[in-house]
Amino acid sequence: MSNNPLLPANINALAAYSSAKSEKLTGTTWLNANESPYVKSIDISINDLNRYPDPQPMNVINRYADYAGLTAEQVLMTRGADEGIELLVRTYCQPEQDSVTLFLPTYGMYKVTADTHNVAINGLSQALLVDGTVDQIVNAVGNSKLVFICNPNNPTGSLTPLEKIKAIATALEDKALVVVDEAYIEFCPEHSASKLINEFANVVVLRTLSKAFALAGLRTGFTLAQASVLAPIRKVIAPYPVSTVVASIAANALSPDAITSMRRQVSILNALRAKLKQWLEASPAVLQVLSGEGNFVTLKLADKNSFNIALEQGLVMRAFTLYGENDWLRISIGSEQELEQVKIWLDGLSQSATFKEQEVS
Ligand SMILES: *Cc1c(COP(=O)(O)O)cnc(C)c1O
Repeated sequence: MSNNPLLPANINALAAYSSAKSEKLTGTTWLNANESPYVKSIDISINDLNRYPDPQPMNVINRYADYAGLTAEQVLMTRGADEGIELLVRTYCQPEQDSVTLFLPTYGMYKVTADTHNVAINGLSQALLVDGTVDQIVNAVGNSKLVFICNPNNPTGSLTPLEKIKAIATALEDKALVVVDEAYIEFCPEHSASKLINEFANVVVLRTLSKAFALAGLRTGFTLAQASVLAPIRKVIAPYPVSTVVASIAANALSPDAITSMRRQVSILNALRAKLKQWLEASPAVLQVLSGEGNFVTLKLADKNSFNIALEQGLVMRAFTLYGENDWLRISIGSEQELEQVKIWLDGLSQSATFKEQEVS
C-alpha cells in the first residue's frame, strides 16, 4: 500500500470496501446482494423541485412511525441504513478513544465506518452472542460505546432472542448504545426490538427500505430510538439528507396497500427460502447450511470451484470467507425462476460429483 502524506493514517490504511455491487462480475441471475426480485415501476410528478426539501419529510416519518409502532420524534429518516450506522459512529464515538463492539462474522459496514472515523473495533464472535451468557457478553463488551447486533445477522441468518437483547441493554444502561440492525426484520417481524425503545433509552434500531420493501435503489433507511438519543444525531446529519423525489416514493412505499403487498411478497420469499434450504441440504455439493432468517441462505461448499461453475452459467451469488474458510456462499432469495437457475446448477454439480465417484471406483 502506498502512503499518501496528505492522508490521515487510518484513511491510508483503508482497503476499498467490496460491496456485492462493486465486484465487477457479469451474469444474468443476480442473487448476490439480498435484493428483492419484485420490481416496482414508479411514475411521479413533482412541481416544487426549485425548493429545498423538508429535512425530515413529515408524511414519510408519520407513516414509518405508524408502521413501527412508535412516535414521529422516535424516527429519523436517512440515506439507507448505512447512513444510520455512520451517523451513530460520528455522533457517539470519540475518535482514537472509543470503540464499537461487533459480533463477527457480520455486516461489513460497521467495520468500514469505524475505520474511516478512527474508532477502534472490539471484535467478538457471533458464537459468543448466540451461545454466551449475558454476563460473558457484557464483560467482553467492556467500555465500548456502540454494540452492533445485526438481527437477523447477515450473513449467518442467526437470531438473538429479544430477551437477551433486553438483558444486554439493561446491563449496559448509561454505558453503551445497543444498536440492533433490523435490515431483514420484515422476514421475521415478531423478533423486532422496536418494542424495547419506549422502555430503554439505550436501544437503537436500524431499518431499511432496501430489502423486503424492494427499494434498494432508493437509498432510504430509518434510525429508531428515544427522542433524546436522536437529538444529537439531528445536529450531525446533513441539513437536507432526503431529496423531494425520494421522499415522495418512500411515502408511497409506506401506504397501507404497499405494506400489505410487501408482507405478501415476504411470505412468498420465506416459502422459497424453505424450498432452497431443502435443495441445499439434499445436495452432495454442499457441506453445511446455516439455518436462519432473512432473504438469504448461507452455505459451505464441498468444492470452492462450484462458485466459478455458477458464474459460467451466469448465476451470481456472494462468496464469503467465514471462520477463516473461503468456501462459503450466500444465496439471496430471488424469484421462483431465478431459484430454478440455482437448482439447475446444483443438479449439475451433483451429477458431476457422482461421475467422479464412478471414475474412482
Ligand atoms: C443491506 C444491509 C444494510 C444496508 O441497508 P441500506 O439501507 O441499503 O443502506 C444494513 N444492514 C444490513 C445488515 C444489511 O444487510
